Formats: sequence, C-alpha cells, structure tokens
Amino acid sequence: MTEDIDHYKFDFATATEDLRAQFDPAKARNVIFVNIAAFPPDTPGGAPNIGMTPIGDAQFLQEYQDRAFNLTMSRSGGQSGTGRLMNKDKTQLGNVVSIVADDGYVHTFGEKYEDLMRLWILYHEAGHALVKNADISAGPDDTYGENAGDAMASLLFLRRFGPDAKAFLSMISWSRAFQAINAGDTKHLTTAVIDKILNDSGDTDFSKLTFAQTVQRAQEYAAQWTPNAAALSTARDVFSSAIKDGGRLRDILNRILSRKSPPDLASFMAGKVSEAMVRKEGMEFFGTRAQLPDKERAALASDVSAGLAGMKVNHLFNSAAIHSAGTTPLLSLAPLGLSAGKPLVFGATKPPTGNS
Ligand SMILES: [Zn+2]
Repeated sequence: MTEDIDHYKFDFATATEDLRAQFDPAKARNVIFVNIAAFPPDTPGGAPNIGMTPIGDAQFLQEYQDRAFNLTMSRSGGQSGTGRLMNKDKTQLGNVVSIVADDGYVHTFGEKYEDLMRLWILYHEAGHALVKNADISAGPDDTYGENAGDAMASLLFLRRFGPDAKAFLSMISWSRAFQAINAGDTKHLTTAVIDKILNDSGDTDFSKLTFAQTVQRAQEYAAQWTPNAAALSTARDVFSSAIKDGGRLRDILNRILSRKSPPDLASFMAGKVSEAMVRKEGMEFFGTRAQLPDKERAALASDVSAGLAGMKVNHLFNSAAIHSAGTTPLLSLAPLGLSAGKPLVFGATKPPTGNS
C-alpha cells in the first residue's frame, strides 16, 4: 500500500523518526538528524552559531554535543548537508545529517512542492549517511556521493508513493540537468541515475523493497550510473563555454547541441533541458513565464534531434562503455511525467545557490 503523494505534509520529527525506525540498528545509533531552524552567521571567532533540534540515540547525542564544534557544520551558506562525526583518534563515530529549515532548494518548484522538496532533501541526505562511501564529496569529477543520495531519495519516493512519484522525480531529474548547465557545475548532475531508476520503475515495483534492499539498490545504481570523471570534466567545459556569452537559455542550449563533436553527456543534458522547453504549455521559470513561439519550439526540437542523433544510453559516459543494456534511445528513458496542458512551474523566486 503506497501513500498519497498529493497530500503529503512534511514534519521534521515525524519524518526523521520514521526513517530511523527502518534503519539497521547499528546505523540508527550512529546517525543524528539535526533540524537547523535558524542559520545566523558564524560568531566572530568562527564557531558555528546554530539553533538546532537534534534527534538520535541518547548516548550518541551526548558524543555529538561534546564534539559539535568539530563538525563540518561551519558551512558558509544555509544549506542542508551530511557530515562525518569523527573521534579524537580520527576514527568515524557516525554521521550528522543537518537539515536547514529554510534551505533555498526547498523553493525550487514553488510553494506547491515545498513539502515534497523537504522530504526529498531529507532522503537525499540520509542517502549520504547510509549508502557505503557516499558521505564524502570528493570533488566535481567524483559525484558518486551525490548520485547515491539522489538514487536513495528516488527509490524511497517510489517505495513510499508508488508510480505517482514519477512526475515529481522527473522534475527533479530535469532540474539537476538545468542547474548543471546554468551554473556550469556538474557536482549534482544526477540526471542519468534518476532517469534510469524512473525507467526501471516501469517493470520493477520498488514499493516491495525492504529498507535494507533500498539502500543496497541505491548503491548499485550510483555505482553503475554515475558519469565518469572524463565525461563530467568535458561536460563542465562545454557548459561553462556555452554560458560564457550569456543570452537566452534557448541560445545556450543551441550552443551545446550544435557542437561538431559526437553527442556526449553535455548533449544529453541539453536535450533533457530542452525537453521541457519544447512543450507547448511552456514553463514558469523562477517567477517568469517562458513559452517559446511554435516556430522556435520546432527549431529547438530539431536542434535536439540533430545534437543527439544516434545517441544511445551507452554513449552517455563517453569512453567508458560500462553499460551492456544500452540500446534505449536516451530521451525515451524518462520523459517529463507532467500533465499536458499545464506549464512546468520551476522556481518561485530566484534560483537557489545550490545544495549538498
Ligand atoms: Zn548531497
């Protein structure tokens, strides 16, 4: 029995206790969730000045209180994140998942989706803490941790809400591609992993997975579908060069799609972003309504066809052909699961600065 996604309301204490109850007991002892209700600037001495409500095992909480100032919580922005809690001898005690109540990322799709975004962030951060080796961000060319976080969150959404989660997950997938191009940054470029899970949800009922199986599957998806360093590095160069001269998003996408080189990860992401823009209904873009005239939509659709000509899933990662079953045309993997006739609302006010 899956839950109704349309009426989901997020509550930090309920959501974290529900998660912890499903953890492997050893993990439940070693993961603390912290609700950061306010995020004032650090004190002049540099110590984090944080108002928070931690939820976790009593003994572990005590350890945490003793060591709070050694945490990687002296973050520069109000973003949620997962840190390692280290002992004095540098062994790892566990993880601290800090959820920032007013995280800008919550507003990505406007008010209607804020509760689901809060749950998404919690599940993503829990993925960092639970999936093996996913609790460190190794750099722009090693995005395994971020892909594990999004794989975990996607699977938990499908497990909890069933196929009704697909539309929301498609929006997340799209936004990860959009943000990568927009910021010229590939750290959270998890689109391929989310799309693969969405595609597989057609013949796999993820609601039947146990929690432990879900963690295991998230690890497998991230290991198999995280783009490799070469593909990410190339994509970053392409994005940066395409946004350098500015212009409309449509022009930036055209620059990426019209390169002479064979289709690659960057082409796919540009195609993915275009997918929303060629919809007749248009989209709402951080408070601005964007709707391309029919002629431009047709031109963009043709750019996408040309830019991705012949591209299959196993081309996605440039040189490393690590996928055997890669014959599915890319854009049919996970088309946006949005209802026709409604504009895609993306962002209430301004783009968030990022998230962890
Ligand atoms: Zn993350």
